Amino acid sequence: RTYLDYNATAPLRPEAKVAMIAALDVVGNASSVHAEGRRARAVVEGARESVARLIGAKPSEIVFTSGATEANNWVMAQPWTSILTSGVEHDSVLAPVRSSRSEIIMLPVDRNGVVSAKDVSEQVSSRSFAGPSLLALQLANNETGVVQPVAEIAELARSHGLSVHTDAVQAAGRMAIDFAALGVDTLALSAHKLGGPKGIGALVIRDHIDLVPLLRGGGQERRRRAGTENVAAIAGFGAAAEAALRDLQAAAAISALRDEFEADLKRISPDVAIISEGATRLGNTTALALPGKLAETLVIRLDLAGIAVSAGSACSSGKVGASHVLEAMGLGHDIAAGTIRISLGPTTTKDDIAAFLAAWTTIAGASALAA
Ligand code: PMP
Repeated sequence: RTYLDYNATAPLRPEAKVAMIAALDVVGNASSVHAEGRRARAVVEGARESVARLIGAKPSEIVFTSGATEANNWVMAQPWTSILTSGVEHDSVLAPVRSSRSEIIMLPVDRNGVVSAKDVSEQVSSRSFAGPSLLALQLANNETGVVQPVAEIAELARSHGLSVHTDAVQAAGRMAIDFAALGVDTLALSAHKLGGPKGIGALVIRDHIDLVPLLRGGGQERRRRAGTENVAAIAGFGAAAEAALRDLQAAAAISALRDEFEADLKRISPDVAIISEGATRLGNTTALALPGKLAETLVIRLDLAGIAVSAGSACSSGKVGASHVLEAMGLGHDIAAGTIRISLGPTTTKDDIAAFLAAWTTIAGASALAA
């Protein structure tokens, strides 16, 4: 099998697996004062340092959550007067925004899916916010890989008194992140996109920012998030973050492989559309559409040929139809329902790409005849 769906989830890194297996034998509850408890605490705090290092944050700023869905929901659940966000955000941002009582201001995106500082500037200077308000903008998009100018927009928003949240799930481990330099108040991470286990993530909260807890109960995570720590998952997250930081140097090689892949693809299928080709993108992601072809069909035929890729986002697969991200970009239903995503990772090889291209040549050629 050829796995080219890292943006859906990355394979568990061997270092993470080793750390998790060791942590499963740690008996204590990290809140207990006895030796067993202190061992569990040491695992959790070691992992916190590793996660903090990956994004240039302080360990005290990391709060472990059940994943990025919880982290995003937590921020959106705050009593914001107004929330400014974009139509290309992940559903774990958009769904809670839609059901919140806040005023919602949707920022426009261009055809590449990029929010412009100019549009944000117009929005924030043309109105006054009666109470605490939030701008939520992802760092990188899961479907297209497009990177938003978060630092520039965060500075603008904060100069108008807004809080700023970024969903950095897809960016972490794929581009360098400096939490302080980004200038955001909160940032969401997910372990499984960088080779850690599923079901663990973090909300990074700038020191001295108070959030109303989403989960109440025990006093864990310095009273910010109740619930006995999932020590093994946290250990896996820490080990994966360490490995991801080390692998950041390999990001250029992944990017070169991706660029070569796109060039080959265009030679094979001259009418292929590469989504957001002209924008700043993560080096591991290609979203593409072939006119007249349904994404679901392509994904199934590639799967039968031994290759795993996604139609739009894996999170919304099963719900057949167009991606809300591509529709927000104004790409039209045909492209939005025809786009598949190929996403690479540190273990992707030239052979994986060759396997994809061989299968693609058969599938795209054959389906072109059938069209
Ligand atoms: N945000 C983005 C951009 C994502 O790609 C995902 C995962 N599909 C999430 C949030 C949710 O993360 P988790 O799976 O940890 O809940």
